[in-house]
Amino acid sequence: MKRILVTGGAGFIGSALVRYIISSTPDDVLVADKLTYAGNLDSLASVSGDERYHFQRLDICDGPAVDRLLQAYRPDLIMHLAAESHVDRSIDGPAEFIRTNIDGTYILLEAALRYWRSLDRVKQSAFRLHHISTDEVYGDLGSSKGLFSEISPYAPSSPYSASKAAGDHLVRAWLRTYGLPTLITNCSNNYGPYQFPEKLIPLVILNALAGKPLPVYGDGGQIRDWLYVEDHAQALYRVAQVGKIGDTYNIGGHNQRKNIDVVASICEILEECAVAKPAGVAHFRDLIQFVADRPGHDRRYAIDAGKIERELGWHPQETFDSGLRKTVQWYLSHPAWWRRVQDGTYSGERLGLAR
Ligand code: NAD
Repeated sequence: MKRILVTGGAGFIGSALVRYIISSTPDDVLVADKLTYAGNLDSLASVSGDERYHFQRLDICDGPAVDRLLQAYRPDLIMHLAAESHVDRSIDGPAEFIRTNIDGTYILLEAALRYWRSLDRVKQSAFRLHHISTDEVYGDLGSSKGLFSEISPYAPSSPYSASKAAGDHLVRAWLRTYGLPTLITNCSNNYGPYQFPEKLIPLVILNALAGKPLPVYGDGGQIRDWLYVEDHAQALYRVAQVGKIGDTYNIGGHNQRKNIDVVASICEILEECAVAKPAGVAHFRDLIQFVADRPGHDRRYAIDAGKIERELGWHPQETFDSGLRKTVQWYLSHPAWWRRVQDGTYSGERLGLAR
């Protein structure tokens, strides 16, 4: 049994990882999360009664508090997911992205190094810090046929991806310079249950149900490589257990889709699920509305996930069609979760942390 500290564990991917660890492993988990607008304790309700689950409200930018937490919990593994994660918000207000994704990662690395140096040799050699990052650090594949590999050069386009790239570089520097045992994963776009409804897929599902416009940036031709969040959670756990220290692993679902096709597929699934339509809506796809493109919008991302598949034996379980269907069904059957997000009574907002 390991003791795992998960930063950002109340977010979309972090909560999927924590639910996976509690349901499928013998490990003990401490979630450390600031509970920004994106942190939602409702997403951890199914594990909150388990004695192997613990929660501590923490800002990773508070170095002394991170030191105290590490000394008190004494983790064998840190999985670092705490971040500002929404590209549009990074364009409107980059400061918080620089603070959490760069300064916060630096502060966590320094605290982890102090903690790691305080361990005995056996514990030191077992310890790892796993930094969770994005394929957006590699920039835009444009109209090329290429895929991102672990040696693709970094060329981030947005304040979000630039801040994540900086975090990745710091993690590598702390490994190379100080010997801190780290691993990095870079993953493609995630989707699935419990995703905050500012992101494309839940936004489209919930707007469609409310009869609101379904906004699509530009011509909708941007291509993303989609991965079901529970597949990502399993990949993260696998890398943290058996990945090679110092290595990077790209994670992707072999599901390249144009944004417009994703939106059209959601409309089709909603039609099939015989959802009662809002008044005046003949077909959900009639709600699609093209809006001005995002500044600096990357055209295509796509992952070569061959390394994690060959070396660690991980493969995604869901196709895009099966995962999207599960996701739509989840939002249809969990209105209590998303209504509390919409009306602001979920944890992040209730604690006065809305921005
Ligand atoms: P999210 O926005 O849903 O969750 C982020 C969590 O971090 C929230 O619970 C928030 O409260 C917490 N947090 C933010 N600032 C903090 C701080 N200063 N201290 C402590 N906690 C803080 O994000 P997500 O979609 O779950 O992404 C998790 C990680 O995975 C991020 O690092 C992101 O860059 C990366 N990633 C996301 C995707 C994706 O498609 N969502 C894809 C690849 C990689």
